[in-house]
Amino acid sequence: MNFQKSILSLGWYHEVYHNFSTPTPRIKMQLQTILNRVEKQKGFVYSKARFNENGELEVELCPRRNSKAICSGCGNKGPTYDHTSIRRFQYVPLWGIAVFLVYSMRRVNCGECGVTTERVPWACGKTQQSYSFRLFLATWAMSWKETATVFSTSWDSVYRASRAIATELVRGQRAFVGNR
Ligand SMILES: [Zn+2]
Repeated sequence: MNFQKSILSLGWYHEVYHNFSTPTPRIKMQLQTILNRVEKQKGFVYSKARFNENGELEVELCPRRNSKAICSGCGNKGPTYDHTSIRRFQYVPLWGIAVFLVYSMRRVNCGECGVTTERVPWACGKTQQSYSFRLFLATWAMSWKETATVFSTSWDSVYRASRAIATELVRGQRAFVGNR
């Protein structure tokens, strides 16, 4: 079937072309708006977002004005002692783009525990994965297990098949990017 002909006959093509060519008020939605919608970080705000040299999205987080850091030892709020180096936490990818939250951890001068690193709501301890990213990965892992059960095969078989396909896709994508 001639697809172009069929959509032309429906008038759909004209409709789409018309809509694309007519100046309409632009809808700009910031990444921060989306992030605030899916996951607000209590006591923190999403600030700048940018692509780094590897094509990954980096979104900076800043403490909300006048918000005190939480001691990772006891959970009490305390005054900021200083800031440690900037850390990156992997977040759920958006449209296939790797996303990282970037934050300069505060150290807390805690009356109970002394100087400790603050506790943040999106990740625990020294991990470089956010809770959301872990949940995202775990969901995929769970899908493999469920797939294995449904098709009476092992988790390992599903994993190996998925990995092989993913490798092929990445290889294909690289070839595609290289050809442009
Ligand atoms: Zn403490």
